[in-house]
Amino acid sequence: MDSMEKNSPLPSRLPASAPLGKLWLVGAGPGDPDLLTLKAARLLESADLVVHDGLVGQGVLDLIPPHVERISVAKQRSRHTMKQELINELIVREALAGRQVVRLKGGDPFIFGRGGEELDAARAAGVACETVPGITAAAGCAAQAGLPLTHRADASAVTFVAGQCKDLSDQDWSGLAGIGRTLVIYMGLATAAAISDKLIHDGVSPDLPVCVMERGTTAQARALRTILTDLGDLVLREQVASPALIIVGEVAKRADALDCLGAPGIATQIDAVLLRNQI
Ligand code: SAH
Repeated sequence: MDSMEKNSPLPSRLPASAPLGKLWLVGAGPGDPDLLTLKAARLLESADLVVHDGLVGQGVLDLIPPHVERISVAKQRSRHTMKQELINELIVREALAGRQVVRLKGGDPFIFGRGGEELDAARAAGVACETVPGITAAAGCAAQAGLPLTHRADASAVTFVAGQCKDLSDQDWSGLAGIGRTLVIYMGLATAAAISDKLIHDGVSPDLPVCVMERGTTAQARALRTILTDLGDLVLREQVASPALIIVGEVAKRADALDCLGAPGIATQIDAVLLRNQI
């Protein structure tokens, strides 16, 4: 009997006698293993196979017991990320073979996580599939920096967008940022300058506060504040590394500027920009 059967009344766990496998789409949260759900932690214990991507924090991977097989589909030096179709095939094949397969994804599986495609593949193959939500990067980063994504004084709407998509300039982002709104951009590091130009071109104030959160919820986290017009330069100047999130809106001025020790430090120079612009 495994630890899940001993400790947990999870209704979705199949009886040991059933030969059927199952696919679990599990959110690993943004990095800090303490942000994993109890259900996710139990599933890591009872899985036969964990298939994870590169965003899953090392602290979370360390929770996978040694007897559980694990496969990384992350980008590695020798090869690119495994194609989505191959990942779909892998997880479906293993579940059809009777295994309990945990597909572990950074953040939440259904927020820029391609969890929907994997669920579709499971449904098409007749594989039982259950999704376990995770804390998405926006929520984790915002909490760590003390930056409320909504605030009665500053924002009554929040939007998540993907910055790294083709034809950025053709997309209509008007109305997503500005007064009373918070815009959270995932995968926007490489296109930060273009995003800033686009928003300003669409009529958003160049002085709107911005917070860039790097490696949120980890010990190496940085929260860098600036204003929209400086976003592209900030990313270069501070050599912001992936994964990073860009938060645009009045609420960004409320963020605690964090350096990697969680204390005000490197961000002081950014605050000078804010002061100059009287934010
Ligand atoms: N499913 C994930 C998002 C995957 S897309 C979720 O719900 O969070 C990958 C993007 O998420 C990264 O490019 C980055 O923009 C963001 N991200 C993920 N983890 C992050 C972290 N710890 N700190 C900052 N941004 C993060």
